[in-house]
Amino acid sequence: MTKSLSELITTNRPSLCAYCKNPAKGFLYREDDKYFGACSMEHLAKIKSGERLNKMAYLNEEGIADATIKSKEKYLALAKKNESYVIHEWTGEDRQKLFGEAIKNYLDWAEIQAQTGNVGKITRDGT
Ligand SMILES: [Zn+2]
Repeated sequence: MTKSLSELITTNRPSLCAYCKNPAKGFLYREDDKYFGACSMEHLAKIKSGERLNKMAYLNEEGIADATIKSKEKYLALAKKNESYVIHEWTGEDRQKLFGEAIKNYLDWAEIQAQTGNVGKITRDGT
């Protein structure tokens, strides 16, 4: 299904460059009903020609544990709002908010880990 450009920009923007898998930076390539993000004009050209690097990110157990702890406050607020600690009893929108919070916290952790190289305990001030 073809999506509107405004929908793509606000709610469904590609996160990664289709070529190198770095974060996409506002470049978008459309091929029929498919949309590919790009990090640069150079990589946009590679995407258009069908080139792709075979790269993928891996989960880190420490990062998952950190994101779980950092998401507790959001979980408790949403549990109170939904009058239940059972996630499947919440509204779909609120379940998405919780999982979105956890993913955002994981990505924040991964960014700090990448910047610092720290493989031990990572705190939000980057130490
Ligand atoms: Zn790229």
